[in-house]
Amino acid sequence: MDVLYGGIEAGGTKFVCAVGSGPDDLRAEVRFRTTTPVETINRAIAFFQQEQRRQILAAIGIASFGPVDPDPTSPTFGYITSTPKPGWAQSDFAGTVKGALAVPVSLDTDVNAAALGEHRWGAARGVDSFIYLTIGTGIGGGGMINGELMHGLIHPEMGHIRVPHDWQADPYPGHCPFHGDCLEGLASGPALEKRWGQPPETLPSDHAAWNLEAHYLALAIANIICTLSPRRIVIGGGVMEQLKLLPLVRRKVRELLNSYVQAPEILQKIDDYIVPPGLGRRAGILGAIALAHRVAG
Ligand code: ZN
Repeated sequence: MDVLYGGIEAGGTKFVCAVGSGPDDLRAEVRFRTTTPVETINRAIAFFQQEQRRQILAAIGIASFGPVDPDPTSPTFGYITSTPKPGWAQSDFAGTVKGALAVPVSLDTDVNAAALGEHRWGAARGVDSFIYLTIGTGIGGGGMINGELMHGLIHPEMGHIRVPHDWQADPYPGHCPFHGDCLEGLASGPALEKRWGQPPETLPSDHAAWNLEAHYLALAIANIICTLSPRRIVIGGGVMEQLKLLPLVRRKVRELLNSYVQAPEILQKIDDYIVPPGLGRRAGILGAIALAHRVAG
């Protein structure tokens, strides 16, 4: 029997489960809606139990919505912790999967997992300190510092950093239930929809929305560059599918830094410094498979 790896991309609205070994080898994939923890996790387990009859699964990686406890030495490792999503707070996600399938299980944030996938197969190959950002229904950030996924007190929450908000230029108050006008409150997909009255994918490329969006994202990225000095920034998510946005963000980042950070990557080669994910929309599920590779050793 083949030896493969299992991945779970656990999102707040949908789950994707797959087995495989990498971008050229994803052999089975199922998607279903996220409902209660018991129902949703059991559905994932049933999928892998079926796969286990056909091949050996060396490990399972879980790229999860959060917040999560990613510390393997903690008694609540692999739990989804304080999420406002009904029923999911304090649920033992990794432990339940491990107990049912009897294989090593690794769990991290969706963005840290995607960062690991980009490092292994995508836009961050060969780069050991970088940031991965996703701009979609929410805003999340993860990445690596010196080859280690970013953990600390818990894990980064880059979507909730504060950026300057000019209330006169942009009276929209922001929609984050915790902070109002944090980055996610101002610049996620739902923020665009509420501010402009239509979903971002229907806003024309010359709409004023994109300039303002690029402004907020560039402020956040400039802060991240000044704080962490990453060697690359990978930025994806549904909102970035407006292709005009990334060049605008690059230009504004350079303007905001104003030649202060003296690196050719920013001054001359910013197109290679702030880049889209190499794995595209598969960054999430491949990140989960990358977590499984790592825990399997
Ligand atoms: Zn917030």
